[in-house]
Amino acid sequence: MRNEVSPIKDHFGRALKDLRISVIDKCNFRCTYCMPKEIFGKDHVFLSENELLSFDEIVRLAKTFAKLGVEKIRITGGEPLMRRNLDELIAQLTVIPGIKDIALTTNAVFLPKTAKKLKAAGLKRVNISLDAIEDEVFKQINGKGVVARPVLKGIEAAQEAGLEVKINMVAKKGMNESQVLPMARYFKGTNIILRYIEFMDVGNHNGWDFNNVITKKQIIDMIDKEMPLEPAEENYYGEVASRYRYKDGGGEIGVISSVSDSFCGTCTRIRLSADGKLYTCLFASSGFDIREKMRDELTDEQLEEEVTSLWGNRRDRYSEERSEQKNNNRKKIEMSYIGG
Ligand code: SAM
Ligand code: SF4
Ligand code: SF4
Repeated sequence: MRNEVSPIKDHFGRALKDLRISVIDKCNFRCTYCMPKEIFGKDHVFLSENELLSFDEIVRLAKTFAKLGVEKIRITGGEPLMRRNLDELIAQLTVIPGIKDIALTTNAVFLPKTAKKLKAAGLKRVNISLDAIEDEVFKQINGKGVVARPVLKGIEAAQEAGLEVKINMVAKKGMNESQVLPMARYFKGTNIILRYIEFMDVGNHNGWDFNNVITKKQIIDMIDKEMPLEPAEENYYGEVASRYRYKDGGGEIGVISSVSDSFCGTCTRIRLSADGKLYTCLFASSGFDIREKMRDELTDEQLEEEVTSLWGNRRDRYSEERSEQKNNNRKKIEMSYIGG
């Protein structure tokens, strides 16, 4: 048995617990709120093979993080299933001592081909993004004219493979308010938890405006009128989704209210981009180049020191500052680059 690690703490005493790893910046979709096709067009230059962290480099970093307190890993992108042989990476991450949970966020289109291999590699759960159940709306959102069916097939494949599935739906005015109720109806009673995500001001290219945010309160009011809800308790410390149960026993939904609430006080997450930059906040302007340090042949101990110092100096609290109306126009990293 391995002794529990005492996690390193940041400037405000927040422990380091979660690592989000983006494995690729490319995506098969061009969701209007994430990678608008006008900006991520044919001329957009994505990271080259050599710029991407190799699996060996990712695993080495994950081991370093596990020694410093990380227990949960989330794999994301871009579209993570566009990274070749992802199951081989998962297999190496699941056996790292101290890592208790590995999850994957995906648009699900490639799950019919990969779900079984991912499960066999040790993956237990997937969060699948689906922003509309009606084809005409979904086609507009994903920017590629893809209907809902391939995503639904991906969901089926994940379930058949034995993966736990949650659905994430970004809710944005002028985009998919018409889908809030149809999505709830579709997933109610299925054992699949649907989580609504408030449209966030990540990056500089998605035309974010507070007026386009459908708030947690608006979402809950809308659903509660037709399908009465009651609040459910938090599952674990720092859970970002507020949970609600259908009063008739039809299961539960969640709302991730990153705009109307602030989670900075319990934020235990660090993010690793596909090209090896570490970000201590989703709304950061710049990252710390850990790939360069690794390729400069730092020892494992030196790597640990670098991360400890980075986390120790962390003072990020963007969501709290946002509500104080500061800092809204500065340069920020893009969601498709860091993966959420
Ligand atoms: N391609 C994968 C997917 O869509 O699941 C993984 C990467 S994607 C960037 C991760 C999650 O971030 C998705 O659920 C997506 O809907 C969400 N997302 C992207 N931009 C967002 C924004 N501006 N506000 C809220 N959520 C956003
Ligand atoms: Fe791709 Fe996911 Fe962004 Fe949509 S949300 S463009 S699927 S990375
Ligand atoms: Fe964490 Fe930054 Fe989000 Fe606050 S704004 S919860 S520090 S990622």
